[in-house]
Amino acid sequence: MTDIPFGDKDSCLEGIAAAEKGFMVWRNVNPFDRALILKRAAALMHERLDEYAKITVLESGKPLTEAIGEWKVAANFFEWYAEEGKRNYGRVIPASRNNKRMSVIQQPMGVVGAITAWNFPAYNPARCWAAALGAGCSVVAKPSELTPLTAMLIAGCLHDAGIPDGVMNLITGDPAVIGQVMLQSPSVRKISFTGSTRVGKILMDGASVTHTRLSLELGGSAPVLVFPDVDVDQIAAESVTAKLRNAGQVCIAPQRYIVHEEIAERFLQAVKKKMQSIISGNGLDPKTEMGPLIREVQRENIDRIVKNSLAAGAEVQFGGHKGPGSKGFFFEPTLLRINQADNPCFQQEIFGPVMPVITFHTLEEGLMLANQTPYGLASYVFTNDLKTSVHASEKLEFGMVGINEWYPQAYEAPFGGWKQSGLGYECGPEGLTEYTEKKLISIGGV
Ligand code: NAD
Repeated sequence: MTDIPFGDKDSCLEGIAAAEKGFMVWRNVNPFDRALILKRAAALMHERLDEYAKITVLESGKPLTEAIGEWKVAANFFEWYAEEGKRNYGRVIPASRNNKRMSVIQQPMGVVGAITAWNFPAYNPARCWAAALGAGCSVVAKPSELTPLTAMLIAGCLHDAGIPDGVMNLITGDPAVIGQVMLQSPSVRKISFTGSTRVGKILMDGASVTHTRLSLELGGSAPVLVFPDVDVDQIAAESVTAKLRNAGQVCIAPQRYIVHEEIAERFLQAVKKKMQSIISGNGLDPKTEMGPLIREVQRENIDRIVKNSLAAGAEVQFGGHKGPGSKGFFFEPTLLRINQADNPCFQQEIFGPVMPVITFHTLEEGLMLANQTPYGLASYVFTNDLKTSVHASEKLEFGMVGINEWYPQAYEAPFGGWKQSGLGYECGPEGLTEYTEKKLISIGGV
């Protein structure tokens, strides 16, 4: 058991005041010297990985192998943005008049508020902190109240790596109060938010008054189009592994399986077989393949979605209940077959180990079903046909399309949602630019 401080309005204001001072220092540190500190922090994360990953398991419930992988990626974010900060290039614009010279520079925005979700307690904060710090901003971070320890460990590594005082600040406490303080403060130039579309909209409302810049990484409902030319058994087995990662609590989790009718029966049988073999349990047990959900409310949400889906005509092919076991908020790996795209499990973000399957006949019909959602984060296509993969990837209305892969993201590539899944980008060069302002410098009378 560990006690965590519960910050209030004043502690957030204190953090912002410290970050203002920190920014004055950090903006003047040469990007090559900033990189040394960020890389030292990354090295410390790698060194302390085994101990830290266990703490992440204890606070989130995910299996240890997933926590280890997540910490490696978190460290890599700091490594990558340490280097990318050195490439914060501007540009020279050939002017239309001979006596004029124009250039554009990109400067760090200032104090950044970073509000992040619990589902990836290391990845989510690292993704935004590393980019903001690499760009030369200072940070006031509010990790999820459900997983504050992991974020504290990352902040500790930055501290031990020698980041100057006030550059990296972390506050835990009442989310709504802290969010409002960040929005109201003229010093907080940007809020980077990772979380639900619901809270994203609250921040957008607030920012419409205060004009705070926002990056929003929100919910998703990823379609998975499976065409008949694939190895059905293999893709079905991989589908289960991908679906059950972090017990389905993943923003880019494959959610709506849209399977060609020719292979649907075989696909469902192979999914069932794989689901039967899944071992749920304590994340620290090496045999565990799926951990519990983060908390009871989450499990109740999933239970409600499943019940509503059944009432609307879905058919359970596997699972469908809470459990197994009485300790931990487990939900069985669940396979649902549906006939109508207006079924609740096809309409709402599930964020749990539930896999709805619907069938399609033509490419156009499959794409229509895939795009029939207010979300636009990730999408997946499985086919060996080049033409199908090109047409599908161009017509899907999502920020990321995985063709024959389950992990269409990387710290070096832009990550962002279309439609109600987000605003702006994290990761890649785009992620760094999000924390900079562009400035035109125009010299006349030359
Ligand atoms: P959430 O929106 O409830 O909480 C996210 C963060 O916002 C937490 O730190 C929380 O304390 C804070 N928060 C809550 N209410 C707030 C308020 N009124 N003002 C300011 N901050 C507030 O989301 P969650 O349930 O923690 O996370 C799950 C959601 O996050 C899912 O929808 C998932 O898809 C999404 N998510 C998206 C990404 C992405 O990159 N697109 C990544 C991870 C999670």
